Amino acid sequence: MKFPSSHKTNPAFIILGPPGSGKGTQGKILGTIPRFVHFACGDLFRSLDTRTALGKQFVSYSSRGELVPDELTIGLWKAQIDNLAGTHLYKPDIDFLILDGIPRNVQQAKLLDQYVQVHQVFHLSCPNRDELARRMRKRALKENRLDDASDTVINQRIATYEAETKPILQYYPADHVTVIDATQPPVKVLSEVIQRIIQLPVYQSTSSQIV
Ligand code: ADP
Repeated sequence: MKFPSSHKTNPAFIILGPPGSGKGTQGKILGTIPRFVHFACGDLFRSLDTRTALGKQFVSYSSRGELVPDELTIGLWKAQIDNLAGTHLYKPDIDFLILDGIPRNVQQAKLLDQYVQVHQVFHLSCPNRDELARRMRKRALKENRLDDASDTVINQRIATYEAETKPILQYYPADHVTVIDATQPPVKVLSEVIQRIIQLPVYQSTSSQIV
């Protein structure tokens, strides 16, 4: 099935938080649950061939701690979602899409509204910027991430989050946002996300149809 582009019912949840808040950790775990499909925008960008024009653009923006331009990002997202739907790895009519790292600004949120219906945003909150920087430095060593390698880039990424990504929280209605303390152990964060999901009407109506 091709991803229905004019369809507004494809249900989605967003995991939103500063770099280092644990979006990927939570998204990966949620993606192992049947009917949940994890989409990590940063992973998609990192998988690009860096010899291509797109791959080169990604490296030039991410290595400065900046966002890749919106049209490019949403275009790539859409192409990947179409692939996943085309190969039935993602079934838009019954699966929940877990968006991690996208949208990253209000314009991206508006563009995504054409394709998915966002039922809840999980805000992984971590006001302690030193803790975020510590987590990013640790990740730079373990995962060889260029964009986490220097304090200048780390600070720029946190500043980009504050200026461009955080305003997304005001874009969605207040009852669509759940704030979760990201300094808790991952299992507690996960538990709060799941507790909220199972209360949502969209989950209750969709899960009762699945056998
Ligand atoms: P983190 O998980 O640490 O927040 P990501 O792995 O999601 O970081 O993203 C790494 C980099 O990829 C970002 O700094 C940015 O340059 C680029 N990127 C990822 N997602 C987006 C997006 N939705 N829009 C623009 N740029 C993005």
